[in-house]
Amino acid sequence: MAAVRVFELVFVLLMLGGRTASVHDGPLLLLVSFDGFRYDYLDRSQDRVQLPSLEYLIQTGVRAKWVHNTFVTFTFPNHFSLVTGLHAETHGMVANHMYDPDLHQQFHMYLNNEPKWWDVGAEPIWITNQRCGGKSGVFNWPGMEARFNGTLPFRSIPEYNESIPYEHRIETMIRWFTDEENPINLGVLYFEEPDEVGHKYGPDSPELDEALEMVDRTVEYLIELLQSAGLFERMNLIITSDHGMAETSVDRVIELDRYLDPSTYLWVDKSPVTAIWPLEHGVDREYIFAALDDAHPNLQVYYKEDIPAQYHYRHNRRIMPVIAVADPGWTIVQNISTAVVEKGSHGYNNSYLPMNPIFVAHGPAFRTNLLSEPFNNVDIYPLMCHILGITPLPNNGSIDNTASIVKRQKGWWSPSPRSMSGIAGTLGLLLMLVGCIAGCGYYSQKREQTSGRHLQYSIIGYEMEDYSLGEPLVDSKREV
Ligand SMILES: [Zn+2]
Repeated sequence: MAAVRVFELVFVLLMLGGRTASVHDGPLLLLVSFDGFRYDYLDRSQDRVQLPSLEYLIQTGVRAKWVHNTFVTFTFPNHFSLVTGLHAETHGMVANHMYDPDLHQQFHMYLNNEPKWWDVGAEPIWITNQRCGGKSGVFNWPGMEARFNGTLPFRSIPEYNESIPYEHRIETMIRWFTDEENPINLGVLYFEEPDEVGHKYGPDSPELDEALEMVDRTVEYLIELLQSAGLFERMNLIITSDHGMAETSVDRVIELDRYLDPSTYLWVDKSPVTAIWPLEHGVDREYIFAALDDAHPNLQVYYKEDIPAQYHYRHNRRIMPVIAVADPGWTIVQNISTAVVEKGSHGYNNSYLPMNPIFVAHGPAFRTNLLSEPFNNVDIYPLMCHILGITPLPNNGSIDNTASIVKRQKGWWSPSPRSMSGIAGTLGLLLMLVGCIAGCGYYSQKREQTSGRHLQYSIIGYEMEDYSLGEPLVDSKREV
C-alpha cells in the first residue's frame, strides 16, 4: 500500500476513534453495488487483471456463478429490484428514461426524485428496516432522495453526486455504522464503475481491466476500514451489481429514421430497448408497429401485451405501447449522423449471459468458500430481510433460492410458505403475532391486506432440510 494511503488510513482511524463501542446491537448488513460489474469479470486471468480483495472475500465467503437480473437490464430498474425484490413492472421504475401517460411527464434518471415517480407501490428495504426499528444509511443508490410515505433514509447525502471520491463514500458509510448516538444497522452504497469505462472502451478493453483493479482497491479499502472499526467479522457484506456489459460497434447500428418519421413519436427510452409513445398526429401504435416490424433482422418489435412473459414486463402504464429490442451487440439510434455509438452497452435480454452481474457475500450469515448456483436479483431482497430479521413485504423473490449460501444455524432460516403446514404454520402465525406486537405492526397490517396465501414467516430456532425452489410471493400483475 502506498505511503499516502497509510496516511489517509491513519487519519480516518483517528476520525473514527472511540466510536466502535456504539455499533448497533443487531445484525449488520452492507449492500454494495458496482454498476455494470459483469459476472465473469471475476474470471479473467491473473496475467490480465488481479483482484485480490474480491478473491479474499470469495474464499472466506460466497460467490454466485451469476445473478439473473431484471428486464430491462438497465441501472434504475435493477437497482430498485435489488432493494424491493420486485420486477420492474411491479415496482414501477421500468427504465432509466420513462414517460408516464397519467402524469403526462417524462422521467430522466438522477433528475427526478419526486414521490410520484418512486412511491407508487413498492418500498425499498431501507424504509422497511426503519419501520421495524432499524436505522438505514444510503449513499448514491437510485431512489436515495425519494420520500416513501413521507420518509427518507435515516442517513443519506442531500443529492446524488458522482464526483464524491470512492474512499470518502466508504469513510462516510463506516462513520454512519459507528455513530455514537445513532448507529445504522443497514448500509446501501453505490459506485458508478466499472459501468462508465465499460461503455466508453468496451468490456474487453485494457481500460476495463484497470477499472476492475480500481474497484478491487476500493473493496480493499472497505475491508481495511471495517477491520479497523472492529466491524469486519460482524458485517454481512453483499457486493453485487445491476447488470453486465456487451461489446457494441458502429458496424452494428439500427437507424430508426430509415423506418419512422421522427415527428410521429416520442422516443422515450433509447437503446438497446427502444420505448415508443405514438404522438397524436393521426399516428397510432399500429402505425408504429407496422413500420418497425420486420424492418431490421436484428430488431424484435412487440406490442406491450405481447412482450415475452419471462421478461415480467407488461403490466405497468409506464411500459410503452410498442417496444423494440435490439439483438445483443446492436445499438438503436435515430440517425447515425448525429449519434454517438459506444463500445459497450447493456439493456439487452436478461437471458443473455453477458447482461448478468456478480454476487459476492461475506459475513456471519454466509457460508465460506462456496460457489453457488445462480439465483435471481429479486431473491436478494428476502435474503437481506432474513439477515436483518425483518419481515419482507410481498415480493417476486424467494428465500429458498439463496438458502444454500446462508449458514444453517438456528434463527437464520425462514421456511417458505410452501414448506409450512399444520403445526408449523400455526406456530409461525403465533410468532408473527408476537413479532407484530414487538414493533412491526405496520407490516403485518400491510401483509394482511394482500392475498394471505403468500405470507412468509420467520421462525426462530426452526430448521428445515428441504431447500426446494420457491415460488414468487406476488404475481407481478399489479398496475401502479
Ligand atoms: Zn451503463
